[in-house]
Amino acid sequence: MKYIGAHVSTSGGVENAPVNAHAIGAKAFAMFTKNQRQWWAKPYTPENIDNFKKNCEQYGFPPSHILPHDGYLINLGHPDKAGLKQSRDAFLDEMQRCGQLGLDRLNFHPGSHLGKISEEECLLIIAESVNWALEQTSGVTAVIENTAGQGTNVGYKFEHLRFIIDRVRDKSRVGVCLDTCHSFAAGYDIKTPEGYAATFQMFEQVVGFSYLKGMHLNDAKKDFASRVDRHEVIDGGFLGEEVFRRIMNDPRFDDIPLILETPEEERWEEEIRRLYGMMER
Ligand SMILES: [Zn+2]
Ligand SMILES: [Zn+2]
Repeated sequence: MKYIGAHVSTSGGVENAPVNAHAIGAKAFAMFTKNQRQWWAKPYTPENIDNFKKNCEQYGFPPSHILPHDGYLINLGHPDKAGLKQSRDAFLDEMQRCGQLGLDRLNFHPGSHLGKISEEECLLIIAESVNWALEQTSGVTAVIENTAGQGTNVGYKFEHLRFIIDRVRDKSRVGVCLDTCHSFAAGYDIKTPEGYAATFQMFEQVVGFSYLKGMHLNDAKKDFASRVDRHEVIDGGFLGEEVFRRIMNDPRFDDIPLILETPEEERWEEEIRRLYGMMER
């Protein structure tokens, strides 16, 4: 089964996310656990938590089809002590928020070296950050998202994801999320049939599909290997429709949340319907 959804709003309370997802015909969803551009947020109230769980139950969203996303300020590979501490504390807070909501995974961007340390040093710090957060929580998996490699971001190669996984002590609570736009922008040619086959064969060899806990479905506003992280509506960018048709008919992407992060919110309902329509029965 395919579980397609979008990154929906939590405006008015986290409990509105499953309602917003249901309204657009989604079978999965993503959301921010708190305002993604601020360090601090009010803790959830018992009502927030109860209503979130009730709404998920009512609209049929189990935790395995919900992929919360961490805030944009967090850098778990921060080269400076103070910056790293602030990021780790914020990440731990988000892991704990997921736990409170009964969720089992948190998607995060690995981090940036900011031109001050090497990629490898940055990846080592990220792995230690994940270990640190996992040791203080239970039940929530840290899901590393592959990046476009924009600026000083690490995580644009499958080897980077593997490097982190290798150093995480509790392998049962680390996973990955592949973003189609980021993969293409980072230089993985998933657009052609041959490139698609080769990319995911490489993914299996380097990382392994057993770690795949979610996927982001976005077209790319910039061309192949641009290293630019700009999403586009499905079939509106350089990727085009065919790659999404392949994904929709590829059982390796069954039973995980497949999340649209495309720029035009008002088109999500139509995009979800279109993606389901690509499945060959
Ligand atoms: Zn992301
Ligand atoms: Zn993404």
